[in-house]
Amino acid sequence: MRAMVLHQAGQALREVHRDVPTRPPGHVLVRVAACGVCRTDLHVVDGELPGSRLPLVPGHEIVGYVVESDAGSRFRRDQRVGIPWLGSTCGDCRYCRAGQENLCEAARFTGYDRDGGYADYAIADERFCFPLPGPLDDASAAPLLCAGLIGYRALRKCGEARTIGLYGFGAAAHIVTQVMAYEGRSTFAFTRPGDDAGQSFARSLGAAWAGASSEVPPEPLDAAILFAPVGALVPQALRAVRPGGRVVCAGIHMSDIPAFPYEWLWREREIVSVANLTRRDGEEFLGLAPRIPVRTTIERFALADANLALDRLRRGAVTGAAVLVPELSGS
Ligand SMILES: [Zn+2]
Ligand SMILES: [Zn+2]
Repeated sequence: MRAMVLHQAGQALREVHRDVPTRPPGHVLVRVAACGVCRTDLHVVDGELPGSRLPLVPGHEIVGYVVESDAGSRFRRDQRVGIPWLGSTCGDCRYCRAGQENLCEAARFTGYDRDGGYADYAIADERFCFPLPGPLDDASAAPLLCAGLIGYRALRKCGEARTIGLYGFGAAAHIVTQVMAYEGRSTFAFTRPGDDAGQSFARSLGAAWAGASSEVPPEPLDAAILFAPVGALVPQALRAVRPGGRVVCAGIHMSDIPAFPYEWLWREREIVSVANLTRRDGEEFLGLAPRIPVRTTIERFALADANLALDRLRRGAVTGAAVLVPELSGS
């Protein structure tokens, strides 16, 4: 099979031909139909998230079809499944026991501790896979598996907030905006200054307001979610939320947060982070998405063009989400 492999952080992925992986008991072997390209992959490839296995096949938004599973598995042959970032947990630590498996001390992550979906085939612990029925086609469904799930978890962290600012209008924000509209909440979209296309994209999805991240929104917001990995946006977002409001940092990595006057935090404003996902988040969100129904805007890339997709994401040039589709032939 083909796999796009990271041999050393800071270097481009290289296409490698290798054997289809052997499936351990309790795992499924899937043929990858699509794999989303997440900002986390970019952090891994660029060496901003040290500690990944090397060599590594990145990718944790995998839509695939079961080729092989245990006898008696809940997944049958040819069934469509989704494989997310959370690859396995210990099931026994204080976090796993408390319903916070996203914080498990021994968690293993897809496309980080174990090979992911930038390949023709992947294996995954079946307890952490999700059944993935329609209506979205394979490539369109891929961004649900991280951008959607993490966005959903970040949105839940905003509690009952009615007005929410989204900083960074990429894959996650374009899905969250649709969930928010469904729930009767108003989206205020913040993009890089001058990104008129991004702002119109946000408005087209129902955002009540869209502007530059340096702008003050027309009204104080109940909450804000930061999807952009830019620490300087944290104080900006604090200034945009009302007293008692909350700023949720949804990324796995962010540049340093600059110092700011305590006054901006005072009056019970909060800053929290969101880490990973639980299987419950996945079940809730994947159950909700078809009812909304969430649609995704994607750019498809051939597997061999993974570096091109990562580069477009790095430059902020992707509208919606980038998705690798193994059956496409490269440029
Ligand atoms: Zn655990
Ligand atoms: Zn991700």
